[in-house]
Amino acid sequence: MKTYNIALIKGDGIGPEIIDEAVKVLNRVGELENISFKYEEYLMGGAAIDATGEPLPQATIDGCKASDAVLFGAIGGPKWDALPRDKKPETGLLKIRKELGTFANLRPATAYNELVDASPLKKELIEGVDLLVVRELTGGIYFGEPRAIEADRGYNTEIYYKYEVERIAKVAFEAARKRRKKLTSVDKANVLESSIFWRGIINEMAKDYPDVELEHLYVDNAAMQLVVNPRQFDVIVTGNIFGDILSDEASVLGGSIGLLPSASLGEKWAIYEPIHGSAPDIAGKGIANPIATILSAAMMLKYSLNEEAAAARIEAAVNKTLADGYRTGDIAKFGAKVKCNCAEMGERIAQSL
Ligand code: NAD
Repeated sequence: MKTYNIALIKGDGIGPEIIDEAVKVLNRVGELENISFKYEEYLMGGAAIDATGEPLPQATIDGCKASDAVLFGAIGGPKWDALPRDKKPETGLLKIRKELGTFANLRPATAYNELVDASPLKKELIEGVDLLVVRELTGGIYFGEPRAIEADRGYNTEIYYKYEVERIAKVAFEAARKRRKKLTSVDKANVLESSIFWRGIINEMAKDYPDVELEHLYVDNAAMQLVVNPRQFDVIVTGNIFGDILSDEASVLGGSIGLLPSASLGEKWAIYEPIHGSAPDIAGKGIANPIATILSAAMMLKYSLNEEAAAARIEAAVNKTLADGYRTGDIAKFGAKVKCNCAEMGERIAQSL
């Protein structure tokens, strides 16, 4: 039996509650798929500040680097808001992403049939949407030099190096291969040299992926197409600033923040986490929705551990649980047959596996 070492960072607020449910589901899927998980818990964020004075202890960095993947809940809360910037919980998160070199951010947006009314889009537009935004996370205009504010001007530099485009394109092509084999590269090649460069490299790499259908869209058109016809997309790959905007646009399509997982991938390491925060307003009440974290665990199985059957089983179990009408409070307005708390939702999904 194959055993994987998973670093768990529960974090603050609802973090421990939602991670516990993801572990419950992982253990059960492990039994069914004949794989096992060895978990080590590490501190980050407020919990780490309380225990060690630092938001990201060295032991956490070392532990994450020694693991096969990192599953993370959420950090932060009012208790630590007044601390100086370098001591805040959020600094721990930014630092761990940097330490692990996570250059690719993957955010799926899926419309669940039972929850289409939760979407800001009309039912006929949202039904069947299942897309993945792959955003370059460590390059582009947010990091490019030179950058400055001077007396009469402010400026930034949009710059992409060949290796940066190649490695994000590889992640996107491989992801498309594991899905419906369509890749949309988004740029602004009608105006920007960096985009012309980006597009050229993507076209070059497409020769290695003849099974993946490639198209290019300008970012303004892509933003429009995401609300006019989101079903056309499978995988979208784009640079840092365009991805920042498009991934937020895509994330609201499905409706509830409690459902959305994410992955941040590097060359060697990866972090899997829900896109929501630590929800201090409901922390400790046991009512958080654990689905985003459980689906993050499914992404971990798919992208870091290559256990695609186990990942598919979790995704199917989440679908079935929602189809059966089980709802946590955040989605209770939409077709609830059984209202449940965080632990009950986790248990239900584990049973549906
Ligand atoms: P949030 O995502 O924590 O909460 C926004 C709203 O969504 C709240 O009403 C919350 O109750 C609800 N919500 C979020 N996740 C939910 C879930 N799983 N189930 C049910 N309801 C859920 O965002 P916020 O309130 O802006 O931030 C709270 C804290 O989280 C802050 O300290 C912030 O810095 C931190 N934060 C952390 C991360 C992270 O760890 N990656 C991300 C965003 C915010």
